[in-house]
Amino acid sequence: MKDELHTRLICKPFCEFYSAGKDSMLCQTYKFVRDAVPVGKLSEILEHAQKTPPSFAFDAFIKAHICAACSFRVDGCDYADGLNSPPCGGYRVVEFLKEQGII
Ligand code: SF4
Repeated sequence: MKDELHTRLICKPFCEFYSAGKDSMLCQTYKFVRDAVPVGKLSEILEHAQKTPPSFAFDAFIKAHICAACSFRVDGCDYADGLNSPPCGGYRVVEFLKEQGII
């Protein structure tokens, strides 16, 4: 289950697929970020994050260690399945945190 604070920090600003009312489903990158970084620190960090397109610098790591366990893979995630689709917002946040050396 999503919580309002993490959804406001991760999904609303970074995820192209976000829509209100689907808070029972959360992707694995959301869980990863939520568990890896205290919410107060996450809020401070993401306040200054640019909403730039993903660089995919950590794509292999994210796919292997996070996407592989994502609940959305059951019905298919177009990005993780190699189709022409951007990744979710949590992916972009994980990438940003890794680029900053925070995780
Ligand atoms: S990119 Fe797809 S598989 Fe990876 S965490 Fe996001 S929704 Fe899940």
